[in-house]
Amino acid sequence: MNVHEAVRDAAGMLKNSGIENPLFEAALLMGFVLNKDISYVYAHYDDPLSPDEYEKYIGLVSIRAGGMPYQYITQNREFMSLNFFVSSGCLVPRPETEILTEAALSWIEHKKSGEIRVLDIGTGSGAIAVSIAYYASNTVVDAIDISSEAIEIAERNAKTHSVNSRIHFMRKDLFDWEPDSPYDVVLSNPPYIPTPEIVSLPAGIARYEPITALDGGPDGLMFYHEIAAKINKLLKPEGAVFVEVGAGQAQFVSDLFESCGLLTSVYRDLAGIERVVRGDRK
Ligand code: SAM
Ligand code: GLN
Repeated sequence: MNVHEAVRDAAGMLKNSGIENPLFEAALLMGFVLNKDISYVYAHYDDPLSPDEYEKYIGLVSIRAGGMPYQYITQNREFMSLNFFVSSGCLVPRPETEILTEAALSWIEHKKSGEIRVLDIGTGSGAIAVSIAYYASNTVVDAIDISSEAIEIAERNAKTHSVNSRIHFMRKDLFDWEPDSPYDVVLSNPPYIPTPEIVSLPAGIARYEPITALDGGPDGLMFYHEIAAKINKLLKPEGAVFVEVGAGQAQFVSDLFESCGLLTSVYRDLAGIERVVRGDRK
């Protein structure tokens, strides 16, 4: 058995279970097993594979063929060019969320003042909080999440990137929490899928990602209502809030934010979907 034969077997298994890029993922997983990158795998197709390696590899390939998202298998996700540990206790950070993070980083850079206080609501793996602290050294970040598993994962990621001293993680329920004092920047990628739509999400999401990370209530908008209701407690007078929204939600969330006195603007993602609503206090 060599690398090529194993990858070919695996690609067949992945294809049969409807995985979109079976050959690519088969090669990626081989790289994971060999602890090498994908170009190494392509360049070493003729190398022999030990029975132990083959068994481990096919074991992981069957888990993937069963629908588990790739990132939960490798327990790693790149976000803002940083590696994040992920497990089934947290959402896998999405590329769209980089739009939110970059918008906030740009706001922070233009502000050019001393210390910037940031809040991340529903931090999950800590992807947003850790990236902000990592790329803007003048920030101090509070990050809340209702899930203790998520908080543990986020703390681990903050340590990995040596920003744990500037991030304070708290296990809190947004609906039952108020900050001691307001922030310069409030960020959130909250759960925003309407409850009735959760069943129709792709199986990899619905079966493996935590439901508390996805369920935005009957209309998907419950978290935006709560943020809007608390905006004066959350945000300093010169502050800005950035929230990620689901497709088709941007107009509603903009109107909601305008109705509580914010000036709003919208950022689109790479697919052209209105993905981030920003609100500035006037
Ligand atoms: N910020 C991460 C990201 O962008 O990858 C995770 C976002 S995930 C869509 C939403 C997060 O909100 C989950 O980690 C979930 O546990 C958390 N959450 C759900 N309900 C919450 C609540 N009532 N209060 C605080 N956090 C909550
Ligand atoms: N982006 C996730 C999805 O596509 C949803 C995350 C969320 O609710 N914020 O399923």
